[in-house]
Amino acid sequence: MSPPPPRRLALLGSTGSIGRNVLDVVRSLPGQFEIVGLAAGDNVAALAEQIAAVRPRVVALRTAEAAARLRRSLGPAARQVEILHGREGLRAVATASGAQMLVAAIVGVAGLEAIHAALAAGCDLALANKEALVVAGSLLLAEARRSGAAVLPVDSEHSAIHQCLRAGAPAEVQRLVLTASGGPLRQLSAAELAQVTPAQALRHPTWSMGDRISLDSATLMNKGFEVIEACHLFGLPDDRVEVLIHPQSIVHSLVEFVDGSVMAQLGTADMRTPIQYALSYPARLPAARMRLKLEEVGKLEFGLPDVERFPCLRLAREAWRAGGGAAAVLNAADEVALAAFAAGRLGFAQIAAVVEQCLQRLGAPAMENLDAVLELDARARRVATELLARFS
Ligand code: NAD
Ligand code: MG
Repeated sequence: MSPPPPRRLALLGSTGSIGRNVLDVVRSLPGQFEIVGLAAGDNVAALAEQIAAVRPRVVALRTAEAAARLRRSLGPAARQVEILHGREGLRAVATASGAQMLVAAIVGVAGLEAIHAALAAGCDLALANKEALVVAGSLLLAEARRSGAAVLPVDSEHSAIHQCLRAGAPAEVQRLVLTASGGPLRQLSAAELAQVTPAQALRHPTWSMGDRISLDSATLMNKGFEVIEACHLFGLPDDRVEVLIHPQSIVHSLVEFVDGSVMAQLGTADMRTPIQYALSYPARLPAARMRLKLEEVGKLEFGLPDVERFPCLRLAREAWRAGGGAAAVLNAADEVALAAFAAGRLGFAQIAAVVEQCLQRLGAPAMENLDAVLELDARARRVATELLARFS
């Protein structure tokens, strides 16, 4: 019997932290996957190397200028790949490359339309880009239900929960527990937090990640996004999705069942494990990566998060409960505030204040379609930018 054909993948955000890990997993499993599409922002050199290594059919960069640079740098080899750019380029990589699974490792809302189009066309989704689910989860998942596309989480916590849920029926689930490292600022007092610099906030203790998610981990907004992500993916109200601080990042999350039994998923802090789980699901494939040695870890600690010092976690829950477009406002305001913080124009403690005031201003308007979401996203960015003036 011949082996099954490789699963065809398209990857948005191929030059980022997750994107590079995805390609590493693919490389480590010869014959299992074929990369048919790649999309990246502006890193032409990195994309050119990836094209030479995996030979995709379609690629996209953020701008026409970057696409032209890529054509020049590939020379005659440019004829072997379709080179596109912008929103249309992302959409083509997702839907016109022949992919069976889209791996969304782009950041923010840039990939929203492409992800939506892929799900509408019945393409399975391996989702790292949690912001897409935060801002438009109901619309995306409705599309997946209609087309029959599978949505598999790449986020380590949700991958853990997905795995733990295989131990029982949906009606037997009592609650989900998301673990959080607590970020680099976990032990600082409120007064110390007010003085935090971008360099301090970017220094994640256990994971190496892109800038946005690193800063979101420092404020715990990332964990707030993950609560929303879990509510969407697993269909539970947010009062049954709890957060536990676990500084070692070994227990990636847990599921408590109605009989009191708790299932946890453990592993090293290596994103290639949840990436591989999503790519190969429902199969588990052998991996030659570092194994978890609990005897070396020694001790595992758990504690409750402090939403007084880290109010972003509370704001995310409030946005989820408000429904409608509130979570889209949450994401947009957060991105604007983080950019101002990174540029030294906003204090760390004021990130939450900007987000909270933006939520108060814009409320939770109903979101019928993706255009409405994108319009609200743009509006929230304008309002958040105006609000910044109050703090500087
Ligand atoms: P990153 O900043 O390292 O990479 C982002 C990628 O997206 C880059 O390839 C960049 O070029 C590309 N990109 C950005 N804007 C683009 C645009 N307009 N058009 C085309 N490409 C664009 O980020 P990351 O850490 O890899 O995170 C990616 C996503 O995965 C985020 O949503 C993050 O929250 C999520 N995630 C990351 C981790 C992690 O360990 N890094 C863990 C869980 C979830
Ligand atoms: Mg996570």
